Amino acid sequence: MFRLILMVLVLVSSLLGAVTPKKVPVLCYHRFSIGELDSMSIKTHVFGEQMEWLKTNGYTVVSLDTAMQYEQGKIKSIPAKSVVITVDDGHKSVYSDMAPIVKKYKIPVTLFIYPSAISNAKYAMTWEQLRELETTKLFHVESHTYWHPNFKHEKKQLSAEEYAKSVDKQLNGSKKKLEEKMGHEIKYLAWVFGIYDDALLVDVKKAGYAAAFTIDRKHASSADNVMALGRYMVISKHTIKDFEHMVDGTEDRMIHSKKEVVKY
Ligand SMILES: [Zn+2]
Repeated sequence: MFRLILMVLVLVSSLLGAVTPKKVPVLCYHRFSIGELDSMSIKTHVFGEQMEWLKTNGYTVVSLDTAMQYEQGKIKSIPAKSVVITVDDGHKSVYSDMAPIVKKYKIPVTLFIYPSAISNAKYAMTWEQLRELETTKLFHVESHTYWHPNFKHEKKQLSAEEYAKSVDKQLNGSKKKLEEKMGHEIKYLAWVFGIYDDALLVDVKKAGYAAAFTIDRKHASSADNVMALGRYMVISKHTIKDFEHMVDGTEDRMIHSKKEVVKY
């Protein structure tokens, strides 16, 4: 009888193990500032406090690639309290303000970049700066489309043919350009404005990406579509308590207005 119960327990736990999704919180930043804040910025010292909080509370910042390999079963385990840090758009404050803190804490950071802005837009980093950041082995560049289009608007405004051409440029073109410029494979994509649809989920897979990220506020989970994984956007109104709710998966306890993502 005892043996039977044991067998049943082993069976149930292994079944549970097989279906329990693997989840990792992925944070999404944009800009850093020591002065005036716009809606998408956080104060540089606040970012420093968040990194200190992670360290004090036993969190490990793992690279996006490590987290994805874990979720896809290629790595057996990662630290129980793991968190991933990503930054969208390639703003120059990543180089000037964020990088010193990243180097201080030696944390891996993924930069989702759209190539049209680099060495071009006033607010953006240069290719040289991106390459310099990658030499630290802490920063790693991935794709945020080619020029940051709004796919919802484009789908309405362009002919079917023009739209297909644009999608190809944004997904394949960006991957190719970034691979040329950075000299390594581009595996991941962040959806612009978090916008995607069923057709885009197929297109991004065809373009050869291994995973893609939204700004849906939830942990990136192996139970979700790998081309639409959640991320938590961190903005200036978030307190350290709000930050805690994001990384420990208790955002349901956060007041609603704190969860509203900025329309940008
Ligand atoms: Zn963006």
